Amino acid sequence: MCQWCNQHGDRGQKWYDKIENYMFEKVFPDEAAQEKAKEEIKSTFSQTEWRYSDPEFIRNKQFLQDRADSGFGSQIITKEEMVKVIRLADEATKRADTFMVLGHCPCRLVYEGVRDYVCIGFGMPVIMSMEVGYGRLPREGLTEYGGEEWRNLRRDLRKGVKVPLKLAEAEELIDEWEKRGLWHIVMSRGRLPLIEAICNCERRYCTYWMNRFRSDVPEYVLKGHFIARVHPEKCVSCGECWDKCQFGAIHYSPTSDNVDIDPTLCMGCGLCDGACPNEAITMVAREQIPLAKNLW
Ligand code: SF4
Ligand code: SF4
Repeated sequence: MCQWCNQHGDRGQKWYDKIENYMFEKVFPDEAAQEKAKEEIKSTFSQTEWRYSDPEFIRNKQFLQDRADSGFGSQIITKEEMVKVIRLADEATKRADTFMVLGHCPCRLVYEGVRDYVCIGFGMPVIMSMEVGYGRLPREGLTEYGGEEWRNLRRDLRKGVKVPLKLAEAEELIDEWEKRGLWHIVMSRGRLPLIEAICNCERRYCTYWMNRFRSDVPEYVLKGHFIARVHPEKCVSCGECWDKCQFGAIHYSPTSDNVDIDPTLCMGCGLCDGACPNEAITMVAREQIPLAKNLW
């Protein structure tokens, strides 16, 4: 089990399999804690997020470590796990009378100026993010909450955002993202263990990935609970899997004409498994691989 399952799961349960971790009122049971958390959510969306567009912050390890210590974090999951996550999120939003929304990837917006709708947010953070007009371009000034500008902004946002997003739509999207070769993460944005969103990412622009691998703050994106393993007898060396791996974990050996997966590099995204036409790859529990069982 990873550190978050140990801290936030119940009796060996994964932290993202626990429905209470999707519910604002369960994570923050008293009113004072709720108000404080809401203020922090607003602050995250209205101030800190756009610092990501500033190199002074994106490469500032202390700034990133402080944020990780205050509860920013995510974990790579497989497509099958993501479907389970989105079903739990849907159930939690119904119980708490909130909703799910499809939103653009803020990382891709910062790095490439493109709005790519590959994230799903849910619960109270969605409500709070809409109040501050989350979705503005980097460096635009804050709009006053409730004013005409804010209303126009929210209307514009909604042109690109399905509000609310239905569960069946979300499941279709997850399929689409898997086909695009995007890996899946389940995330908390400053309030671990509150699960607030899922993202579907690529290495070239995922800020959480960069915070781990370039700035050496691993809590930003933990490796997943599974590791890919090849069955050599089924592998025909077609190359479909190694095209999918964004982490350099898959190697082709011309001498054996076979494919190897390095368990110490595998992040557990499962994209290779989904791409293999021969069912030559299976995802096994990290605990079963002695070399990698403690590598989170
Ligand atoms: S996709 Fe499957 S069959 Fe093709 S090289 Fe990879 S493991 Fe082998
Ligand atoms: S080998 Fe690569 S593509 Fe396959 S699960 Fe691991 S990280 Fe993902």
